[in-house]
Amino acid sequence: MLTPRRLKYPASGLSPSSPSRSFNRFIPTTRPSLPLPPIQQPTAISGAHLTFVRHCSSDSNSKCPPPSLTPRQIFEMSGQDIASYLTQSHDRLFENNRAWAKTQKEKDPEFFDKISAGQNPEYLWIGCSDSRIPAEQITGLAPGEAFIHRNIANLVNNTDLNSMSVIEYAVRHLKVKHIIVCGHYGCGGIAAAMTPKDLGILNPWLRNIRDVYRLHETELDAIEDTTERGNRLVELNVIEQCNNVIKAASVQESFAKNQFPVVHGWVFDFKDGLLKDLKVNHEAMLRDIQKIYNLVEPAVESETGDKRKTESDHGDDAGSPPKKR
Ligand SMILES: [Zn+2]
Repeated sequence: MLTPRRLKYPASGLSPSSPSRSFNRFIPTTRPSLPLPPIQQPTAISGAHLTFVRHCSSDSNSKCPPPSLTPRQIFEMSGQDIASYLTQSHDRLFENNRAWAKTQKEKDPEFFDKISAGQNPEYLWIGCSDSRIPAEQITGLAPGEAFIHRNIANLVNNTDLNSMSVIEYAVRHLKVKHIIVCGHYGCGGIAAAMTPKDLGILNPWLRNIRDVYRLHETELDAIEDTTERGNRLVELNVIEQCNNVIKAASVQESFAKNQFPVVHGWVFDFKDGLLKDLKVNHEAMLRDIQKIYNLVEPAVESETGDKRKTESDHGDDAGSPPKKR
């Protein structure tokens, strides 16, 4: 049984009896919050009949913050107000949807005919579930351009049928050209994983991140500042998830045949809204992992002399080899 002390990440060479220099010095002592909505500006409440007062600029074209209330504000409301608030916050989405559909049709009368015909996305986006990172909005992509998968801390775990199915479908069927793993600084999932506490059902998920910490323990422990250390773990986690994407049989086989998809590792920064490219080298990473994780048949010469790879029937990430023809 692990003791609380063994669950800590002690700084290298430091005595665990020195609390001032232990891992706990650099982490919050309270339970960290997982991705939660950002704190909104107070919303005016008028009796039983709620009205949202949006704090917008006088420019009518400016985007108002969503009128969502904080948990504390909800707690202080009467039952009738809460019911009214929930009705409004629900109905707002349909109002927005009708307005969006109308705008799309005005901009392009054939828009819905086009997206009804099918999808041909160029990108697979694997991002964090954090509500502040809408993939299409921050990259200027239109509907149909990106196949999206999001989970806490943008993890790619080979026993997660969800993410592995998304990759399989995106690569083998949609034939995406780029796979982007995008993390973000200030990630609540990363902060939670850095806290040596029992977080219940989140433990097995967060352990993937804790494993990344263990792989880079020396580098991370050398970073004194908690925020800086968390941000570096965000980057290392993105790189590790890129590795996990490249381990997938579908990705290896498609790349051998088509030279795509290419895997990229990015980080989003709330401070300026910009994406940072971690410059993941797909081919170098592939070479490194193929010693152990190679799932592609040996190259064969085609009749035209081109070097081609045979397509295996399958081969999965659990380690089963591709079928021999
Ligand atoms: Zn996050």
